[in-house]
Amino acid sequence: MEQQERTFRIGPIRPPSEANSLLLQVTNGCTWNKCKFCQLYRHTKFKAYSADSIKADIDNIAYQADIIRRYQTPLGAWDIDGLNQELGQIPSEEERQCFYMVANWLVGGGENVFLQDGNTTALSSGRLSDVLIYLKQAFPGIKRITSYGRAENLSRVSAEEYAELKEAGLDRIHSGFETGSDAVLQKINKGVTQQQEITAGKNIKAGGIELSVYFMPGVGGKELTKENAEGTSHVINEIGPDFLRIRTAAVKPGTGLYEDYQNGQLTLCSDEEKLLEIRTVIERAPEIDTRVVSDHIINLLQGVEGHIVLDRQKMLDMIDGYLNKPEYEKRLYQAARRMALVNGPGDMKYLDQSRVDQIESLIRAIPDPYEWEEKMNALIGRYI
Ligand code: SF4
Repeated sequence: MEQQERTFRIGPIRPPSEANSLLLQVTNGCTWNKCKFCQLYRHTKFKAYSADSIKADIDNIAYQADIIRRYQTPLGAWDIDGLNQELGQIPSEEERQCFYMVANWLVGGGENVFLQDGNTTALSSGRLSDVLIYLKQAFPGIKRITSYGRAENLSRVSAEEYAELKEAGLDRIHSGFETGSDAVLQKINKGVTQQQEITAGKNIKAGGIELSVYFMPGVGGKELTKENAEGTSHVINEIGPDFLRIRTAAVKPGTGLYEDYQNGQLTLCSDEEKLLEIRTVIERAPEIDTRVVSDHIINLLQGVEGHIVLDRQKMLDMIDGYLNKPEYEKRLYQAARRMALVNGPGDMKYLDQSRVDQIESLIRAIPDPYEWEEKMNALIGRYI
């Protein structure tokens, strides 16, 4: 192996659906950094990298890929032991980490790339296109390039510019809408309006790029649970995003939302109220090509997933099935799920009796319904 150190930047966050993607950092941090529930980039000053600097990273990834591909046979198989042996000898920890990311990506097919960090579309669309074209020239086998974008920035990009970005290689934008309600958007200090979300969503779709939006049931608290459901439903119906990803709200110490909760300005939603919000959005979604995705342990019923057109009733039945259970059973499941002991209600029958005993004593110790929800909120806070 040559001695010159060849590294590239790797940011901290990516959507779960991009777990096997190559991560390419084109910006650092978030342009807004003020959402009341979010701590992701609190200590990071936003920076958009120059096209030259990003291309230098792509060059280093390509350099590493050439070395890694020496361990692939002409028929496509990998000599994993040989590869591990070579990578294990790299003295620099940082460089070794970069090599392993490229190796995992290539061994997994080398198809998808995720552009980091929190708001890639803060880059001008010209600069982003330049980088995308360069990336696809370096790796012609790439099948999908995705990125995060903030609705406020996204709304300032025209459908024509999105079409150019699509042409350059951008396939999907993930955006944390969290809610479609103006009242809730204000309450969580999202710095975005319902109209900006709709404009952003329509332009992205018109430009031919896939849109994946995130919805946070419960984030408006009991005070705004109706608004959260109805506002989000309105935005979804206006846009028809390709993916609607559920991220149940957790009110976590250290956030502005937690301060609001402590000051009495936000009352925690119960898990039932959060499910009813999801139910409203699914029930009212039009016959569009939207897929509901629940790819996070923070969701109570992770099985509520599917295509709106094909699976709407199945998803509603799943929610109703839980809501109609006796109160005690609901609590048993809530706690088991929040302790990560089960994936869905169907797993409860496999729960060890000692675990059931443990949960039952917890239920006895917290008879007050609101204190119970506070406990559940504390448990899910560990997952983010
Ligand atoms: S826009 Fe996203 S990354 Fe930035 S503060 Fe809000 S939630 Fe966090």
